[in-house]
Amino acid sequence: MIKKPPFRKLRGYAFDPSLSLKIDTALINNITYKIRWEDEEQLKPGPIGEYIEVIDYDPTVNKFYSPVDLNHPYILAQDGLDPSGSNPQFHQQMVYAVAMTTIKNFESGLGRPVLWSPHRVKEVANARPQNNDNLANPADIEKVIDEYVPALRIYPHALRDANAFYSPQKKALLFGYFAARPADVTLQMPDSLTFTCLSHDIIAHETTHALMDGLHRKYTEDTNTDVLAFHEAFADIVALFQHFTFPEVLKNQIAATRGDLASQNLLGKLAQEFGIAIGNYGSLRDAIGTFDKKKKIWTPKEPTGEEYRTIMEPHNRGAILVSAVFEAFLTIYKNRIADLLRIATGGTGILQQGELHPDLVNRLAAEASKASSHVLNMCIRALDYCPPVDINFGDFLRAIITADTDLVADDSRDYRLAFIDAFRKRGIYPNGIKHLSVESLSYPEPDTKNLQELFDILVDFLRDYRNEIIYTKKRNEIFDINRKYIAGSYDTDRKIFGLHRRLGITARQNTIDFEKLTGIMFSNNWQSLGIPTSNAYAGKGPSFSVNSLHLASRVGPTGNQRNQIIVSLVQRAQISIDKNKKDWPKITPGETDLGFVVNGGCTLIFDLDTLKLRYAITKPLLDTDSLNYNLHQLNRSRCLALHQHQIGSVADQSRFQAYFGMGKRNSFNEPFNFLHTH
Ligand SMILES: [Zn+2]
Repeated sequence: MIKKPPFRKLRGYAFDPSLSLKIDTALINNITYKIRWEDEEQLKPGPIGEYIEVIDYDPTVNKFYSPVDLNHPYILAQDGLDPSGSNPQFHQQMVYAVAMTTIKNFESGLGRPVLWSPHRVKEVANARPQNNDNLANPADIEKVIDEYVPALRIYPHALRDANAFYSPQKKALLFGYFAARPADVTLQMPDSLTFTCLSHDIIAHETTHALMDGLHRKYTEDTNTDVLAFHEAFADIVALFQHFTFPEVLKNQIAATRGDLASQNLLGKLAQEFGIAIGNYGSLRDAIGTFDKKKKIWTPKEPTGEEYRTIMEPHNRGAILVSAVFEAFLTIYKNRIADLLRIATGGTGILQQGELHPDLVNRLAAEASKASSHVLNMCIRALDYCPPVDINFGDFLRAIITADTDLVADDSRDYRLAFIDAFRKRGIYPNGIKHLSVESLSYPEPDTKNLQELFDILVDFLRDYRNEIIYTKKRNEIFDINRKYIAGSYDTDRKIFGLHRRLGITARQNTIDFEKLTGIMFSNNWQSLGIPTSNAYAGKGPSFSVNSLHLASRVGPTGNQRNQIIVSLVQRAQISIDKNKKDWPKITPGETDLGFVVNGGCTLIFDLDTLKLRYAITKPLLDTDSLNYNLHQLNRSRCLALHQHQIGSVADQSRFQAYFGMGKRNSFNEPFNFLHTH
């Protein structure tokens, strides 16, 4: 019997077609992607597989391009179609190969299969017979149901525009193509067609937006200056660090830079063809340098420490985070190669002139590849340690440090310090931290001694959930089990008392301590704070949602395994703020035309082996200090900060906010479309 191959090989560009036209990069630009093998029944022409559905319809010319069949023997025998700018079937292969590579990296960092963010469908429960005008009675109870999205749709030729974006509504990636408008005719042929679906960086970036939405669906809401910037930055970080997983490219660039990855190189640049085609002098973005248009030279970026306070536009602000993570990587890489350089230079640290020895190139490349995969993993793993709403860069730093401390006991190579240092240099400090150290940045273990009764009930739940989900590998089954355990189920063979109901009832018996832990309101006077009433308990409790429930099994560097259950809770309040009272603006709960929604939330991480609560990472809706005095108040500083961000200064804030004219609701239609138009 012949064994199933571990992966499918598909040829594609490491960067984009423009590098195949240049003599010094042509050889390294064509690489072979190794994609997880999907059987013939799983992978249909399109390609349409388990995770991805490529649909090649071009609405501008009303044409369907015939779908590539990756199982065709001729295509299989030559590792996929030849890279080509003019063959739409290759375009389909390219988006599939890069999107699947990105998914694989997320799954190994997260320690579980990834799910796309579900479709939210509103259903009217217990609807009475409809009237002639077909309108359901507004008094009927509205129920929100999450529908499983098996595959992300990818349209390689969706628009004729210098743009590509992820649509959270359509659960789709839309790639555009356009005629190039280079600033200088020597850089690129004017009017040549540029396809965003042929750029590794753009595909990886957009796929990451979709993956992030599957993990943190509230991160598409613009609630502070960092949220959308974080989405953008993370998408760039993944695209950048994927460059380091291509061995041919890595060795070539190590040789070209003589091992100094802080000097100008291809690995730190994003979307080169796109950047030139829209009139830049180089890539769309560069993690380590900038191109001086006047002097026409590349110069390395030096952090000033003021960036975080002064730069607000989402992409530019995102670039601060990208450069911080890149610098952390460079520090780690330099530490890892210090001994090799000492050996190679006889202790002087000064390399001889000329080309590096190929053996040294190989060894340096191996270290760079290790360091980059560790850094990418640290960033992806940290996503589970972030609050479910209103993230900022400081929260992300704390998440990185906590997640890493959790999995890697011995940080002998000072990875954590490298991160802390790079963030500090850019003025990124988490709120409420007095000084930056690994100890102060790691979230403390919460005090649960007054919550034993509640946790006893939760422990039963966690045990049942673990037993049911731990051997489930199919994504649709994982989704169904998660939903069953969140909402409860009464109609299958077994009755499950859902997490939402358990918390809704039991939390209300241990109220104040659970409120202190989560920052979420469970007490009786919820209406007075503008928190809606839940439909679930016959109008007897406050509304909140269990945003996600995951089981994560991660393996550390020493082979140690961490099994955790991660739960996130979100609650909203409707308020308005009287700006006229400048010294002490008045917060009035309740829905009005001028009002807006403030969300609070909490990520709870349980250790699956001990069934203990390890972390509670919160953005409290309640003022947790006044809970000590048995007082229930909304978290004033969070309300005011949100108000300031959304309404206070629309005129002088970003075009983005002005465009959406946000205020009443924190939601909008296509957040990334607008962000990506240039
Ligand atoms: Zn983006």
